[in-house]
Amino acid sequence: MNNQGVLVVVSGFSGAGKGTLMKALLTKYDNYALSISATTRGPRDGEEDGREYFFKTREEFEEMIENDLLVEYAQYVGNYYGTPKEYVDSSMKAGKDVLLEIEIQGALKIKEKFPEAVLVFVTPPSAEELRRRLVNRGTEPIETINARLSRAAKEAEGIENYDFLLVNDDIDECVDRMHHLIQSMHAKVSSHLTFIRTIREEMKDF
Ligand code: 5GP
Repeated sequence: MNNQGVLVVVSGFSGAGKGTLMKALLTKYDNYALSISATTRGPRDGEEDGREYFFKTREEFEEMIENDLLVEYAQYVGNYYGTPKEYVDSSMKAGKDVLLEIEIQGALKIKEKFPEAVLVFVTPPSAEELRRRLVNRGTEPIETINARLSRAAKEAEGIENYDFLLVNDDIDECVDRMHHLIQSMHAKVSSHLTFIRTIREEMKDF
């Protein structure tokens, strides 16, 4: 059997609860590895280098591009964001299901490079609920929230290229649904062609 991990790309509207979902998956199940991206944006309050992101200068980031150290990268609101290759490769080989929380351009590049990757788009149940969550979080003024919501509408462009839509209404349920979705990917016939070929050859020998 092919025991290689599944590559899972998670995107979604800001405020959809992707971060919470990722953390819950990592805490609840032990088959996941979360990729930490490199970025040129500065750390926000409470963020640590090597935990949320690897914070890089533009020069350092461009050197990573030149040396082919990234699986994919994209520019988002004036900054580079990219997925380091080494961690993804080694974790998948070790049988871990690797989670990439990245935006849509990067997601599509991953699909091109790894057609077997699973693309999941996370959304809140409604625009009203998204607004309510952002307001309740209380971290941003209302103008910023409204601006984020308009941007969220743009973030859905390209969503038809994703494989699955996950509505985050209840976080615990959403975590379990996501887990089962990913686990079912391990059973895809296309991931086990070598195994099937071998078993068919063995059958002929009887
Ligand atoms: P933020 O600055 O809010 O942490 O992230 C901005 C956007 O960049 C989010 O949509 C996030 O998913 C995306 N992002 C984070 N890391 C990567 C990455 O490695 N590659 C790509 N393409 N997007 C990323």
